Amino acid sequence: MSSRRMGERFRSLALRLTLLYAGVFTFSSIVAYFLFYHLIVGVIRERVDQDLLQGINALSAIMVTDGLSGVRRSAVLQSQAAGEEKLFIRLLSRFGVEFSATNLTYWEGIGIDGDAIRRVLLGEDPVFETVLLPRQGHAVRIVYGTVGPGVIAQMAQSLDTQSRVLDAYRKLFAATFSLLLALSAVIGWFMARQALSGVGRISAVVRRIAAGDLGSRVPVTRRGDEIDRLAEGFNHMLDRIQSLVTEIREMGENIAHDLKSPVTRIRGLAEVTLMTADGLADYQQMAASTIEDCDRLLDMVNTMLEISRTEAGVVERRNDRVDLGAMVDGACELFAPLAEDKGVGLDCRTGSGVWVEGDQRMLQRMIANLLDNALRYTPEGGRVKARVGGDAGGTATVTFEDTGIGIPEQDLSRIFERFYRGDPSRSASGTGLGLSLARSVARSHGGDIRAESTPGKGSRFTVRLPRAPGPEGAKNGAGRLGGPKR
Ligand code: ADP
Repeated sequence: MSSRRMGERFRSLALRLTLLYAGVFTFSSIVAYFLFYHLIVGVIRERVDQDLLQGINALSAIMVTDGLSGVRRSAVLQSQAAGEEKLFIRLLSRFGVEFSATNLTYWEGIGIDGDAIRRVLLGEDPVFETVLLPRQGHAVRIVYGTVGPGVIAQMAQSLDTQSRVLDAYRKLFAATFSLLLALSAVIGWFMARQALSGVGRISAVVRRIAAGDLGSRVPVTRRGDEIDRLAEGFNHMLDRIQSLVTEIREMGENIAHDLKSPVTRIRGLAEVTLMTADGLADYQQMAASTIEDCDRLLDMVNTMLEISRTEAGVVERRNDRVDLGAMVDGACELFAPLAEDKGVGLDCRTGSGVWVEGDQRMLQRMIANLLDNALRYTPEGGRVKARVGGDAGGTATVTFEDTGIGIPEQDLSRIFERFYRGDPSRSASGTGLGLSLARSVARSHGGDIRAESTPGKGSRFTVRLPRAPGPEGAKNGAGRLGGPKR
């Protein structure tokens, strides 16, 4: 394995978690080991001390009934009964001089502790101590206690068996601990890998996306855990980004396409004029046509800017009090000659008293765009109806209904996109920005626009806006329409 891959392994979260589990396991095992060890040692010592104390007490009782000779006999019997390698008893004078003892062959090296004798004589009776039996290599527990006037007994019990128990405990612990440590490291590694496998899935997708594959998505399992929720959120975010990127790309293509025709036209006309112009009049005509084309281009660019600013909310919106009925009336008046020229009936019944609060100029452009569309996409002999209404729930509505060409079902969800133009409308003039601007205006005023249509029969566009209380004594006409479309 290369050193770079080794480095990556060591930095991996799964490995660090495994080491952490193993570390916590080791620490708690060692703490548990010492606790149990001290508990066992304590229990053993207490039992041995009790045995020794009972022995001293028995000797004291015998001293009272049978005298020193009885004590000597009893000491030998006690040592033999327990085993001469398990227990020995020495009888000492108050000066620490031995005057009787059981078989001491096994106990070579265990002397008489003058300090312990002194402490017994001073009243600290009995005195316990633990010493090492040098030749046998195990510990011995000793007690010094008075058994009669001027007679002190030194009684010692081997801790050999107890040492072996503790030894076995140590060995058992070491074996169990190593096994469990290995097991916990393996289990910890698998658990960490399992828990982090989702993160791996996400980072694989991130790498694919960074390499340009925007269509990649994180597979979501059916576990419904935090990683799944993260994956769902991540996929949702990617969907949004992808649709924005697609929108931006389409918009770029549309802008290029829509700018190309007028620019080509301007260039073509200039070229033809240069080659064939026959006097000032031809140049004047070219200039007029160029101005007209440039105006259209500027208009388109300005509308795009306005949509972007309205959507981003960067323009400071005015807060005029607008009578919607009066505003739609104004629009009808303005478009009446166009309707008449086309032979389309325009029926505006708007009334007054429905007020909204907002930017009058922007609302006028929204209404003009909708009315202009209704007339543009309705052939001769058709009808366009404009209605204004308001409900008690605080919503004002403006409806434009036409008996025009209608909008195919598949286009209906897209007509509000920038530059989107339905196929049947390609022959009519337009930029595909009117509805997009209208919707951004409605939304920036806290409302929205809905479109319904039956192809070949007609369409209905309904604008909903939050209704505002009308100003006392305000005159109609506050919203008279002015300004061109788009
Ligand atoms: P355009 O400049 O093409 O009118 P719009 O954004 O105003 O751009 O409209 C987008 C598309 O929606 C139009 O190209 C047309 O296909 C469709 N559309 C809008 N209004 C109507 C309507 N009243 N009747 C039929 N189609 C409509």
